[in-house]
Amino acid sequence: MAKIFMAGDKGAVQIKIPTPMTIKPFEPPARWHAVSESRGKEVVHVVDVLENHGFGKCSCEDFQFRCQPALDDKRETHRCKHLVAAREAFADLMIAKLLEVADQTQ
Ligand SMILES: [Zn+2]
Repeated sequence: MAKIFMAGDKGAVQIKIPTPMTIKPFEPPARWHAVSESRGKEVVHVVDVLENHGFGKCSCEDFQFRCQPALDDKRETHRCKHLVAAREAFADLMIAKLLEVADQTQ
């Protein structure tokens, strides 16, 4: 059974994803499209999980106006919901690759 990290534990990450969205490979493995719906219109943001030394980067306003300035000032910041979701897709891709390699070496 996977260890459940509690907020405040070393290595713990709190994840909040309030909005359903679709993550599509754009330039994998680093770049993804986060597709969500806002007021009946499809909205696409470009997410790069490797930018900012691995913190990630997103084209949305939340990232541009809240996350990036905090990062630039070396203040603690959160990841926008698109970046959180894209990191999940990135993790799935990496896990699949690791399992592939493990299968080949057995
Ligand atoms: Zn975003």
